[in-house]
Amino acid sequence: MEDGKTEKGLTVRRPLYAQLMFTALSFLVLNVLTYVFVRNVIYKNLVRNAENVLIIVQNQIENDLNNPKAYLAGFSRTIRTAVMRGGNADILKEYFVDLSNHLLADEERLPGFDGLFGYFENLPEGRVFTVDEKLVFPPDYDPTQRNWYRNAIAADGEIAETLSYSDVITGETILTYSLCIFDDDGNRLGIVTLRLKIDVIGKSIVESALERGGYGMLISRDIIMLAHPNPDFVGLDFRDPSIPVSIFADKMIEGVDVTEGSVVNYTGDKSIAFFHRLSNGWYIGLVAPEGPFYRDLTNMAYTLFMLGIIFAAILASILIRIDMAKNKSDRESRHKSAFLANMSHEIRTPMNAIIGMTTIGKTTGDIERKDYCFSKIQDASNHLLGVINDILDMSKIEANKFEISPLEFNFEKMLMRVVNVVNFRVDEKKQNLSIHIDRNIPKTLIGDEQRITQVITNLLANAIKFTPEEGSIGVDTSLVEESGGVCTVQVSVTDTGIGITPEQQARIFSSFEQAESSTTRKYGGTGLGLAISKNIVELMGGKIWLTSEAGKGSAFSFTIKVKRGAESHAGLLAPDVNIGNVRIMVVDDDKSILDYFMEISHEFKVRCDTAISGEEALKLLEENGCYHIYFVDWKMPGMDGIQLTSALKAQNAEVKSVVIMITAAEWTSIESEARKAGVDRFLSKPLFPSHIADVINEALGIDKGRIEEAQTNIKGLFAGRKLLLAEDVDINREIVIELLDPTGIEIDCAANGRDAVRMFSEAPHKYDMIFMDVQMPEMDGYEATRRIRELKYLEAKTIRIIAMTANVFREDIEKCLDAGMDNHLGKPLDFSEVINMLRHYLPKNKGVKNETRN
Ligand code: ADP
Repeated sequence: MEDGKTEKGLTVRRPLYAQLMFTALSFLVLNVLTYVFVRNVIYKNLVRNAENVLIIVQNQIENDLNNPKAYLAGFSRTIRTAVMRGGNADILKEYFVDLSNHLLADEERLPGFDGLFGYFENLPEGRVFTVDEKLVFPPDYDPTQRNWYRNAIAADGEIAETLSYSDVITGETILTYSLCIFDDDGNRLGIVTLRLKIDVIGKSIVESALERGGYGMLISRDIIMLAHPNPDFVGLDFRDPSIPVSIFADKMIEGVDVTEGSVVNYTGDKSIAFFHRLSNGWYIGLVAPEGPFYRDLTNMAYTLFMLGIIFAAILASILIRIDMAKNKSDRESRHKSAFLANMSHEIRTPMNAIIGMTTIGKTTGDIERKDYCFSKIQDASNHLLGVINDILDMSKIEANKFEISPLEFNFEKMLMRVVNVVNFRVDEKKQNLSIHIDRNIPKTLIGDEQRITQVITNLLANAIKFTPEEGSIGVDTSLVEESGGVCTVQVSVTDTGIGITPEQQARIFSSFEQAESSTTRKYGGTGLGLAISKNIVELMGGKIWLTSEAGKGSAFSFTIKVKRGAESHAGLLAPDVNIGNVRIMVVDDDKSILDYFMEISHEFKVRCDTAISGEEALKLLEENGCYHIYFVDWKMPGMDGIQLTSALKAQNAEVKSVVIMITAAEWTSIESEARKAGVDRFLSKPLFPSHIADVINEALGIDKGRIEEAQTNIKGLFAGRKLLLAEDVDINREIVIELLDPTGIEIDCAANGRDAVRMFSEAPHKYDMIFMDVQMPEMDGYEATRRIRELKYLEAKTIRIIAMTANVFREDIEKCLDAGMDNHLGKPLDFSEVINMLRHYLPKNKGVKNETRN
């Protein structure tokens, strides 16, 4: 599991499968070792238990065998005394009966006791065979022929032990203890004998060892089985092969104890056998099957095994998760490195252009060449600004500082601005860009226009970038739903470009994840756009997704939640047009354009017919007579737009009709030919409803004053106005002065905040506005503003102070406003924004030019 190190010190991670194998193996080994260890402990325990049992049983058996001897000895002394005192047969019999009855009545006292008898050879009555009441001997019984008799005589005053395996009375195995009694002169008086049932004595060992399936056995000195739980074995020679433990017979013959012998017992269980020699030369045996002892072990082994599997699985899943997290972080770090490399490339490329073009521009005397260099520098700077904005956005997103500021905006105009930004590239690549605006979307919406623009621009720029020349790109918008004044608007950008593989699709919305780097390198780009777009869209309560097929094209869609604005769609057409009478015909081979026109004309309340080809248009004309306005696509299969125009003009010779040609943005190449054919106006794609309305208005001759005010000439716009510019960097001062020069505004410069405060307090009436840089030496813009606001002059409170700073985060802007500034301009300066700011704040009744304009 641990990471290994190579000689170079590089950390090399073992592959996941090796780590998993190692884990599984460790658990296996652990289980096996535990099993073996516990088995060993259990075995030892079993042996100890068995030996303890054996010792107890041995004591008991020896008691059972020795107690009768003590009784016999005592009883013999009593009998001897009785005989010596001249006791006759009846008296002796009484003794025998009494003691025997007494012992029989209490089985505990002498287990296995089976009676007493005696043989007296020298009584006055002659030879007497005395028996208790229990025993009944056969009539022909001759004591002198019996072993107990012979053995007693041979024992010569000691107790003799005689085993008879098939007793004459009962046929059972009987042990007799017999003892000769003598008179004082050593003459034999007789023999006293005590009988014991061996099976009763053996039973105690057989039973006491039966716990947990074990059993015991008793074996005589001449190795005959005296007691065994299996009655078939009793009486057999221990060497009999049917007895499983017979394998230990040799040891017994040698007189050695068997301390642990392995055997399969008579019931077929694997067991351990123990044999101990008793003091009388007999053996007791104990056989303990292993099974019951190991059952717990088996259970434990199962439990251990299962636990092992569970732990191994948990560990494996942890390992897998760690591995995945590690892989993810590796991937992220690789992506970050690749991202840095890309960034470096993306920043250096335009920088290279800027520096290179500046050098060329400086050294050339040719004014056209200088212009060329400037335009290149401008392009590169704008590109660089885009890259920097992306990076800033991304870092704001990463720092959770990304916010949106909703304001009311015109949806269609917003789209027009987006199209204006990207349209030149569409023209360059001769692509076909179409736009569909759902007229259900309110005219104005309340949302963060700048951010929505950013998302659509990014999607559109990508579509253009990744679609080859003459491909098609479409922007479709729709109102998905509206409830409580909140509209869900969907925007889709489709293209017929290179497409994105499913594998890339899964990643391209994530931060620092780019599609295949080779693609990125071929097409350039920071690879941050989609990640930023996703965040913007999600902040607006929407989502972004794509469908794409490699080689066929992509469709990126997103939704946003925005509030309905106050303005609704007013009639775009001039109110003085008698609209009901106006008839329009649209001819285009693209059915979607025809549908779009139908939709718009429905809203405009004009009558509109459509034709899919020139031929069909002429047929319609024949049927319905002339139309007022014709919208004619330029490129159509069969009869093209120019041919159709000629035909239409010929047919409409006496009626005043207007032909508007729908073309790509760049129509200058066909202009003269088209005009010759009779085209009156050009309408470039993509088609916006307000553009269509404008050309209709214009065609009907009522366009003046209705078409939006063109970009106003700024010459002399602010003549007579005075601006105080607080800015420490020379070049920035110069830029503002140069840019605003045509407006006629007079500018005084302060090199820091302190100068600005001083200059203002010296002539508070002089200035109409202050542009205040924020970061300045000696006194920064915030402090300068606060000081100005604190001055006692009336103007100190009312003068407009606009921050000019490269700190463009929301909190920076709020800080400016808190310090008493009125508004904020971000650096690098957008010239039109500066003009708009001046327009917005400068009072209208001052200054010659402004007065006349307003
Ligand atoms: P950028 O375009 O600056 O590289 P984006 O985040 O906008 O960054 O796009 C990430 C990647 O997604 C692109 O590099 C490109 O590989 C893929 N991509 C985005 N839009 C398209 C599209 N319309 N067609 C094919 N690939 C696309």
